[in-house]
Amino acid sequence: MHDPSPGPWAIEADNVGKRYRRRWALQECSFRLPTGRVAAMVGPNGAGKSTFLGLAARLLQPTTGTLRLGGVPVTDPTVLTRVAYLAQDKPLYPRFTVADTLRLGRELNPTWDQALAERLVRSGNIPLSAKVGSLSGGQRTRVAFALAFGKRPALLLLDEPMSDLDPLARDELSGLLMAEAAEHGTTVLMSSHLLTEVEEMCDYLLVMADGRLRMAGPTEELVPAHALVTGLAADGRVPKELTDRHTLVDARVNGRQFSALLRPTGPLATTPATTEGTGWDVVTPSLEEILLACMRAPDAPTLIVDDAENAEKEAAA
Ligand code: ADP
Repeated sequence: MHDPSPGPWAIEADNVGKRYRRRWALQECSFRLPTGRVAAMVGPNGAGKSTFLGLAARLLQPTTGTLRLGGVPVTDPTVLTRVAYLAQDKPLYPRFTVADTLRLGRELNPTWDQALAERLVRSGNIPLSAKVGSLSGGQRTRVAFALAFGKRPALLLLDEPMSDLDPLARDELSGLLMAEAAEHGTTVLMSSHLLTEVEEMCDYLLVMADGRLRMAGPTEELVPAHALVTGLAADGRVPKELTDRHTLVDARVNGRQFSALLRPTGPLATTPATTEGTGWDVVTPSLEEILLACMRAPDAPTLIVDDAENAEKEAAA
C-alpha cells in the first residue's frame, strides 16, 4: 500500500512527451512541483497545457517519459483517489440534479466532504433540486468545483477553471481555492490565460510554449531573476553591452527608446539615460510583464530553477 503522508513532490515529470500522429503536443517535459504549492501553467493556445493536465489526470497516455504524482507512478490505481481533475468543458450529467451529482461524488470518493461540496453549491444560490442541464455556464462551473473540492484531493488539477465565471464568482472561488490549499496542504495545478489571476493566486509557475516547458519555479525566485531595462536605443537596438553580458528574453524598440526584459548574469547597474543615447534605467518587472515577455519570445532561453529541476534528470546528466 502507498504511504499516504505527502512526500516532498506533488508532481515529478521526467521527459514526458505526447505525440499525436506526427505532431508532438508536448515534448521533453521535466520538472518537479513541490507539495502544497498553488501552481499556474501558463502559455499561448496550443502550448500543451491541457495535454499535460490530461496526462496527469490519466485521460491520456504519454508517448515518452514517466510521471509521478505524490511519489507514485501515475499508472498506480491509488493515484485516482488522491487526484481531482476539473476539465475545461466541465463535463457533468445534464439530466442529474445537483443533489444527484454530489451523491455520485460521495459514492465514488472515500474521502468525500459533503458539507464542503454543499456549501460551495449553496453559496452560489443553486438549489440542490435543480437539473444540471438547466444551470448557467457559471453555475455548472460551480457544481464542477464542488465535485472536485468535495473529493478533498491531495492534488487538484484545473484546466482554465475560472474562464466562464463572473468577476464576483471568480473572486469567491479563487479565495476558496487558496484557503483550501493552505488549510489542507492541497497542491493545485491550474492552467490559465488570466494573468492577473495567476499573479494573485499562484506561488509557482510553469510557462509553456510550442509543447515545451520554458520556465519553471517559485514566483519568489523567478521574479527577481528578471530585470526590465529601458533606455535610449542609440543605433535602434538594445545596447550590446547589455545583451553581451546578460540573457535577453525579449526586447522592443520604439523610435529611440528600447525596453528589454533580461535575466541578469551579474550586477546590472542603473546608469541614468542621457540625451547622447547612453545609459538605462533598471526596474524589477511585474509577474505579468515577465509572462508576457516569455510568451512573446517562445525561443528565449529556458529557465528551470534548481528546485524545479527533476532530480532523475540531474542524476542522469
Ligand atoms: P493548450 O492547452 O496549451 O491550448 P493543448 O494541450 O490543448 O494546448 O494542445 C497542444 C497541441 O496538441 C496543439 O497543437 C493541439 O492542436 C494538439 N492536440 C491536442 N489534442 C489533440 C488531439 N486529440 N489530436 C491531435 N492533436 C491534438
